[in-house]
Amino acid sequence: GLLEVTKQVDSVCPYCGVGCQLTWNVGPNAQGEERIHFVTGRDGPANHGRLCVKGRYGFDYIHNPRRLTTPLIRREGVAKDPADIERLKQGQLKPTDIFRTATWDEAMELAAGGLARLRDEALAAGLRGNDIPLAGFGSAKGSNEEAYLFQKLVRQGFRTNNVDHCTRLCHASSVAALLEGIGSGAVSNPVEDVAHADLIFLIGANPAVNHPVAASWIKNAVDRGARLVICDPRHTALTRRATWHLQFRPDTDVALLNGLLHVIVAEGLVDEAFVAARVNGYEALKASVAEATPERMSEICGIDAQTIRDVARAYATSKGSMILWGMGVSQHVHGTDNARGLIALAMLTGQIGRVGTGLHPLRGQNNVQGASDAGLIPMMLPNYQRVINPTVRQAFERLWATPEPLDATPGLTVVEIMHAASEGRIRGIYVEGENPAMSDPDLSHARRALAGLEHLVVQDIFLTETAMLADVVLPASAHAEKWGSYTNTDRLIQIGRPALDPPELAMQDLWIIERVGRRLGLAWNYWRDEDGGGKRASQAAVARVYEEMRVSMPPLAGVPWSRLVKADAVMTPAASEDDPGAAVVFIDRFPTADGRATVVPTVFRPGAEQIDAEYPFVLTTGRVLEHWHTGAMTRHASMLDAIAPEALVSLHPADALTVGVRDGQAVLMSTRHGAVQARVRVSTEVQPGQVFLPFAFWEAAANKLTGDALDDVAKIPGFKVTAAKLSVI
Ligand code: SF4
Repeated sequence: GLLEVTKQVDSVCPYCGVGCQLTWNVGPNAQGEERIHFVTGRDGPANHGRLCVKGRYGFDYIHNPRRLTTPLIRREGVAKDPADIERLKQGQLKPTDIFRTATWDEAMELAAGGLARLRDEALAAGLRGNDIPLAGFGSAKGSNEEAYLFQKLVRQGFRTNNVDHCTRLCHASSVAALLEGIGSGAVSNPVEDVAHADLIFLIGANPAVNHPVAASWIKNAVDRGARLVICDPRHTALTRRATWHLQFRPDTDVALLNGLLHVIVAEGLVDEAFVAARVNGYEALKASVAEATPERMSEICGIDAQTIRDVARAYATSKGSMILWGMGVSQHVHGTDNARGLIALAMLTGQIGRVGTGLHPLRGQNNVQGASDAGLIPMMLPNYQRVINPTVRQAFERLWATPEPLDATPGLTVVEIMHAASEGRIRGIYVEGENPAMSDPDLSHARRALAGLEHLVVQDIFLTETAMLADVVLPASAHAEKWGSYTNTDRLIQIGRPALDPPELAMQDLWIIERVGRRLGLAWNYWRDEDGGGKRASQAAVARVYEEMRVSMPPLAGVPWSRLVKADAVMTPAASEDDPGAAVVFIDRFPTADGRATVVPTVFRPGAEQIDAEYPFVLTTGRVLEHWHTGAMTRHASMLDAIAPEALVSLHPADALTVGVRDGQAVLMSTRHGAVQARVRVSTEVQPGQVFLPFAFWEAAANKLTGDALDDVAKIPGFKVTAAKLSVI
């Protein structure tokens, strides 16, 4: 018979940055236990009822029997061995071989006690700032409140700015370029604005897989007559709808963009009035692209000169051109330069500040925008206020009533923290909801670094690959078990509501962070006695954190918690309670000191990874429709894992012949950093000489193959390009 629905809870999707609103439909199972039976889409501002396969079918991970239900402590004498990750995954070891269960008191004492000891020893030795051997990884999967409190914990409790999260691995370069160029890391126009664009310039993004509902808006816009330019070495589901598909050579974005800029300057397509009124740095940029003729850039990027001219003209002269981009732009060692080029395109042509124009870096995780806004980044306090600025620090010292001054040194970034860990400069890490043992580049190095830590505390809902190397594992709450606010890719802040309680001894993330803070000696009182013991979600406790955060974040000035709960979603920035919020920003000025943007010249430089006779393929890593990031949630969602149960290497038919491999056959893929085995999917989705591997699968962990060379501005690794070789097994 039909499953009985006894409760309907309105919330938002836990996966991507589109931020679809949904309803959890809850009722008893045959054993009488509360379960989410199914999910339905709601008419939210970002989805209007639509959901993709992840949002609709990716919910039952929360009921997975592998959920962590009790605190775990590493058994005495069991050394940390990175090889245990695979032994545990393959069932050769059981979690109980490595960990024993513990009470919350014991686990908390060990977790926070270890962090406090490392901090106190360092302070006693006169160490400060980055020399404090502690770091924290917060999470873009968590709420704004969790992100805010976590960064506060590290800055106030650890006494360092060594706090970061996965934005470092996705859009750090985009944000660096946007802050430098236009004074704000957020999007100028919501995705839905594609409905008003005459030309959509999509580069290095595969929204049909990673932002499926956003892709549906793009598809609708093309059906309505908008021209679509796709710049991507790979074919994607949207490329067949594109007017132009520029399959440029991987890693040559700067050349392609400089070619476009050259045409715009040389052919008089610059919006002179806009540049005069609103842009600095034009003369230097003009000089720098003078030699970047389409013919010269064509030799580098592989796109013929005429196409470069046609696309430049179309972009510059359309009534409204909108740029959207993804990790294909940002995850390069020249990712900041790539984003600078995109910003310059919009600035020189005045394609910003109106409906159907602008710059939109498509945010990956559901709350990566909010977590970054809330200060989960090493060089900035909430709202991108720099830690080096004494006025900023003083304001936070007052807000936080912190007896000790906040540290002025920008903290270490994700990959720098792992390097410091392997060198013994970082000795303890608190990981909340991230999975660096899958997501970091050069995994064998990253896993060794994690295993070498004196003290690793992991807070999560599953025994992730990272948790397998922990000293203490704290069982936390899933998205559908808590209150919280989440900010989508459009700057839309939305409410997540709890449908269920976390299982057994699992606790609310915010409660855990707060309790760690208290044990580190902080006079915190967000989660009070009347809020209950930390298992059941407390709206009041979450609202207390939100309201403190809001004081430090002017874009939220007009969005008190009460408004948010009532409205479900509010577009930010919103200056006052009756301000509906601004969907399109930068209409007449940019949020910079002089209100003007700055364009920054770039020069094409070869990347860190070069193919050669030994490693002749360019490996690109990314996602597949059914799985999300390291698979911590979706690999535990029964429907999604049944649809897409294994990592497949995409290989062009011509290369399959050369390698001597058939569709479905296994290969060994090796790079200068590591090797994995996976079966081949012969496909023209990739060009000859290129291979693609998703990174969600532990069985063929793609990041064993990637290198950890970084963009020198934003410190983002170049995940998108690794030299690789294949051999038949
Ligand atoms: Fe969730 Fe994104 Fe899919 Fe919407 S498009 S349902 S937010 S994963």
